Amino acid sequence: MTTYGPSHDVIIIGAGFAGSCLAWMLKDQPVRVALIDRNLQYPPSFRAEKLEQQQADLLDKFGLLEARQPLADPISQVECFRKGQRYHEDVGLQYGIHYTDTVNQLRTQALPHVDFYQGKVVDVITSSTYQQVQLENGKKLTARLLVLATGGNVINPLAFKLGMRQQATRELRSLSFAFDICRADGQPYDFQSFNYFLDPREHQIDYVTLFPIGDSVRINLFTQWHPKDMRVRAMRRSPMQELDEYFPGLFEQIGDSVLTGSDKVALFPTQYYQLSKVEQPGIVVIGDEFQSVSPATGKGLSKVLTDVDVLSGLIPQWLETDGMTVDKIQQFYRHPDKQAVDSLAKREWVYLADNALHPEIISKVKRKLAKLMGVG
Ligand SMILES: Cc1cc2nc3c(=O)[nH]c(=O)nc-3n(C[C@H](O)[C@H](O)[C@H](O)COP(=O)(O)OP(=O)(O)OC[C@H]3O[C@@H](n4cnc5c(N)ncnc54)[C@H](O)[C@@H]3O)c2cc1C
Repeated sequence: MTTYGPSHDVIIIGAGFAGSCLAWMLKDQPVRVALIDRNLQYPPSFRAEKLEQQQADLLDKFGLLEARQPLADPISQVECFRKGQRYHEDVGLQYGIHYTDTVNQLRTQALPHVDFYQGKVVDVITSSTYQQVQLENGKKLTARLLVLATGGNVINPLAFKLGMRQQATRELRSLSFAFDICRADGQPYDFQSFNYFLDPREHQIDYVTLFPIGDSVRINLFTQWHPKDMRVRAMRRSPMQELDEYFPGLFEQIGDSVLTGSDKVALFPTQYYQLSKVEQPGIVVIGDEFQSVSPATGKGLSKVLTDVDVLSGLIPQWLETDGMTVDKIQQFYRHPDKQAVDSLAKREWVYLADNALHPEIISKVKRKLAKLMGVG
């Protein structure tokens, strides 16, 4: 009688930043990898458009930075404007990147080393030995380990089916706007990157940042507004006027500017969550699917790249022995590097939220708490 083993050692569901990097990192190991994504190409998306020095260093360690460099815009100095003062900060070497182009390039680099399947994964069955996934077209694949790298915001139904749940914190939210501008006189801007900080208690705005991306200058505005806030509609309708009101003197500093491109203002709301009940046999969850990030902290890719760094070191060891039991999987979630970057990303979000609270609200909350606890 013929017995069949699993079709692959590892199946990665999701070929975004996390999944594509992980596939690439396993290329030199004797590991058969299947990479699955519902789209052949990553669709246009506004996110993670600035690569910080520490993130670029990790990409470099993975051997993935060099191919990116010709397409990225280097930023070594950021002009800052705070409380009427302009000063500049050295930031090492950052890059303005197009997320979509970057992910598609990472995917292209990983593809020769994996079996790539286009299709939506609609079902998973996990155990401490073999895992099975089913694609929308009915195709089934099996492996010893599943990696869920499906991005975030709303919990993926596959994680939900396995009993995982998003533990959300409603107070930690973020709403980001993105659009492109150029100088009204057609001249180039006199900065590589420009950040304008407000007192966040006034308008619950974290900051606005301008940086080069391809032929344009991109504006990212990070707020803590609720998506139904009246200010959101106004910002989408007339972003230049609204910016001028919220950021006095901005256009004197950078020069009169106009919207470019499609004149579209992209909007991205997010809220803090971390996935619970993840320590299960046979499956690991990485990237935004595991924990969300406030775009204002710029820590998303640090989390993604650390997950990839840690997991790509563990997988070859796990495959050396039979089974994919919880004690193996726990090594990932409990790894000090992973825990450090996840908690840093959350702490920075909490810091932004605390800063945006008006002192009156803080004392009101404190009074309420004291009353509830029967103190004072
Ligand atoms: C507005 C915004 C701005 C940001 N700015 C920054 C920044 O400046 N710096 C920074 O470090 N981070 C930033 N971040 C965070 C960063 O974008 C994320 O941390 C990162 O993109 C997450 O990558 P990922 O691989 O987890 O998800 P993704 O790159 O979204 O990949 C998920 C993939 O899974 C696939 N998929 C999903 N479900 C299925 C399924 N059932 N079957 C098959 N395939 C599936 C999708 O098609 C997709 O390709 C920002 C985020 C946002 C929202």
